[in-house]
Amino acid sequence: MDKSNITLTKKERDCIIILKRISTNEFPVKLSELSKALNVKPPTALELVSRLEKKGLVKRSKGMILLTNEGRVMYRNIVYVHRVFENFLVECGLDLEEACEKISNFDYILDEKIANLIRNRLGMPSKCPHGREIIENGKA
Ligand SMILES: [Zn+2]
Repeated sequence: MDKSNITLTKKERDCIIILKRISTNEFPVKLSELSKALNVKPPTALELVSRLEKKGLVKRSKGMILLTNEGRVMYRNIVYVHRVFENFLVECGLDLEEACEKISNFDYILDEKIANLIRNRLGMPSKCPHGREIIENGKA
């Protein structure tokens, strides 16, 4: 996916990650749940959701908040970059927790192309240091 035409803020990034993570069961997410998980007040969560809606990444239906297909692609991109860079920084000697935290500040800015280069250089790791799978978009 070409991310150059959609830019996110850190808060929007966190919102996408949380939306995906707390909606794993059959049930989509309510605004109250989202604001609790993001640790912000409901009006702030609503503002984030409206911004993501304008970017085509989120949709609202009957009081529920869902990721669109584009939103899910964005999520997978962020996670892919995140896990590749986790390998990189841990290999450079950073401890995993710190690596994870630091990478959360830029995993939504970089695109898959950069992550692919780093991953190649690292010998194509298939898992992040947490043991989670590294999956390229479109190959899930
Ligand atoms: Zn992590």
